[in-house]
Amino acid sequence: MLAIFDRGIYLPELDVWLDSLRKKDSCVVSHAHSDHIARHKQPILTPESGLLLNEYYMKSTPISLPYYQTHETRNHTITFYPAGHCLGSAQTLIQSLDTGEKILYTGDFKTRRNSINVPFELVSCDTLIIESTYGHPQYTFPETSIVLDIAMTKLKEWLNHGMRPVIYSWKLGKSQEILDYLQSSGFNVFLEQSVYDITLKYLESGVVFKNAINRFTPDSWPEDSILICPPGKASSQITKYFNRVKFMELTGWSVNSGRRFSRRADISLPYSDHADFNELVELVTTLKPKQTYTVNGFPDLSEYLRNQGYPALHLSSERSNQSQGHQMKLI
Ligand SMILES: [Zn+2]
Repeated sequence: MLAIFDRGIYLPELDVWLDSLRKKDSCVVSHAHSDHIARHKQPILTPESGLLLNEYYMKSTPISLPYYQTHETRNHTITFYPAGHCLGSAQTLIQSLDTGEKILYTGDFKTRRNSINVPFELVSCDTLIIESTYGHPQYTFPETSIVLDIAMTKLKEWLNHGMRPVIYSWKLGKSQEILDYLQSSGFNVFLEQSVYDITLKYLESGVVFKNAINRFTPDSWPEDSILICPPGKASSQITKYFNRVKFMELTGWSVNSGRRFSRRADISLPYSDHADFNELVELVTTLKPKQTYTVNGFPDLSEYLRNQGYPALHLSSERSNQSQGHQMKLI
């Protein structure tokens, strides 16, 4: 199956668009992060993604497709499977009605489990289109429990010294995973407004957190609690109101030694809502597709796979320079 990358993925034989960043008549939207969406006339997405994007798609006519249900068109079917990345995130299985060929687009995915996300599921396919955000061998992450132990120890240390810990985190996905870990470890947690609003949508979708959800305002942040806040707003606004603030960044990019202690955080630890390099490779070697396309990340993954004997090609548009990897612009 031929696949083309042009600010999104296009399957010309079936006339299917996936995660296009330009407005289309019809397009699969794998999840609600802003680097995967545009104001399509008819987005095809999970009900949970629809809930997160209900204002964004107010003037559209979305097709709401729950996991495991199948949407049929004149020449193909579409079925979503959990991707383990954030609320509503989906892998998309497309099957040609003419040839029976199965094409799987992973979208952003995470194979490590937690108690917030619907777990990633293995889906067999003939052609695999795999996101390769961390598709370079330097991006292998330690065990999650090790990283979290270090994070919790550091947060306790800061609180014991009268510091105010702030965790930088994108508002959809990672923030809710971290909130769950912190609440499970007995921390009192407050959420910046945008993180709070999205966490309410998790609750609306039936996700259960250990304790109540607290909204941050400058007047209502107790000294013994932790704040989760997206990057950008935090440093400019929080430090204006509070002294003795300490910033922790949790990101897969921190395994790059040059970024271990980023300029914007006091400590940067490798925690991600994406698969690392080994997990990307493991998915391909497990599924053994006839053809693999890598997208949205380092091209090194496809080269590595070819050297291992797997037919693999990196999809990129000529205009975009992807040699430096994909820098995420998430909502
Ligand atoms: Zn994403």
